[in-house]
Amino acid sequence: MPQPQQLVLIGGGHSHAIALRLWGMQPLPHVQVTLISNVNEAPYSGMLPGHLAGFYRYQDCHIDLRSLATFAKATLILDSAIGIDSNQQKVICQNHDPIAFDILSIDIGSTPQIPHESNSLIIPAKPVPQFLTWWEQLCDRIQQTSNPTITLSIIGGGVGGVELALNLQARLAQLMDPTQIQIHLFHRSPDLLPQQPPWVQRYLQQRLQARQIQLHLNETVTTAIAPAIHCASGLTVTCDASLWVTQATAPAWLRTTGLELDDRGFIAVNAALQSPSHPHIFAAGDIAALVDRPCPKAGVFAVRQGPPLFQNLRHALQGQPLQIYRPQTRYLSLIGTGDRSAVATWGRWGWASPLCWWWKDWIDRRFMQQFRMLKNPLSAEIPTPSERP
Ligand SMILES: Cc1cc2nc3c(=O)[nH]c(=O)nc-3n(C[C@H](O)[C@H](O)[C@H](O)COP(=O)(O)OP(=O)(O)OC[C@H]3O[C@@H](n4cnc5c(N)ncnc54)[C@H](O)[C@@H]3O)c2cc1C
Repeated sequence: MPQPQQLVLIGGGHSHAIALRLWGMQPLPHVQVTLISNVNEAPYSGMLPGHLAGFYRYQDCHIDLRSLATFAKATLILDSAIGIDSNQQKVICQNHDPIAFDILSIDIGSTPQIPHESNSLIIPAKPVPQFLTWWEQLCDRIQQTSNPTITLSIIGGGVGGVELALNLQARLAQLMDPTQIQIHLFHRSPDLLPQQPPWVQRYLQQRLQARQIQLHLNETVTTAIAPAIHCASGLTVTCDASLWVTQATAPAWLRTTGLELDDRGFIAVNAALQSPSHPHIFAAGDIAALVDRPCPKAGVFAVRQGPPLFQNLRHALQGQPLQIYRPQTRYLSLIGTGDRSAVATWGRWGWASPLCWWWKDWIDRRFMQQFRMLKNPLSAEIPTPSERP
């Protein structure tokens, strides 16, 4: 009897969640699947801002990796990968013994860039579990304090930072006197949301100002040490916390693996989501850098990469030719404004309305529904989540 082949997945990100669900529907015999994840429940990015605003419960926007692994007949190892021995074909974990693989796939996301060593004033938006813990503790403290005041700085005026600012403000305004909330949003260039059309930039800038969120454009934050953050211009703002939603970065341990990386340290992959330097290793989602057609680091791309990743892992295990993944060039983007309204953009077009929120909510709930129906899967169709550039 031949030894089973070992398929090992690191990280329960969006692409792996979809690939595992598809695997559960179409498993290959004689293949053992192992998922190494440092969390039991993986956050779904499309619903996170709505969760912060209080519209969704924790379980509404988290994928239960234990049931997903059970459905896919995969072994879930709750641990962090900290290295890859690519010659021995083993994943090195923080606590667990090294895990051997024939085919390996990596979907571990990214974290925001911070200017120096972390400290108590710095709260990165990712990893999400730590961010949510901080947010829940803050909300609890506010509810237990009489006449609370709060000053938050948000660093990064891309879609993530703007959506975070609007949704946090909305929730805080329910918990305390809105005049006691100060939110500062810092962005290093003159225009917020650089990848969005001018109409959307103007509209969201007005929404931020209408909610009394103070904008600091053309400001680069250089240090954040309690009790203040400091900008290159000399501007200093005293605050209780600084939330970082800046450019995505990759973990340093990847540099020790021998894998080909791009100039920012992300795993280089070809159009088959396969490492050019190590053909038995695949990567998807934020951590993958498509060499020929770079695409934005956003949940929508991680989701879209799920089905081709699934196909290619199967094909690689069977020694068959791989499928090509072509990222879309134009896509729908739905940005929630924290008041049960949203902005939809498609190319140069934009539309703001409560109907867009309804639409986003419907898409996101439908996306999550596929993971709740694992015991009775009716269809392999993957709905598209609300998207962002
Ligand atoms: C505040 C905020 C809001 C956002 N909103 C949206 C949105 O509305 N729409 C959108 O498209 N995008 C959004 N994004 C971007 C989106 O979060 C990412 O692009 C998306 O999550 C990437 O998915 P992924 O599969 O690459 O990784 P992730 O979803 O980040 O998943 C990676 C997983 O791997 C695990 N992991 C990490 N390292 C290890 C390790 N060493 N060992 C084991 N496990 C590990 C992590 O715990 C995590 O569960 C938002 C980002 C932020 C910060």
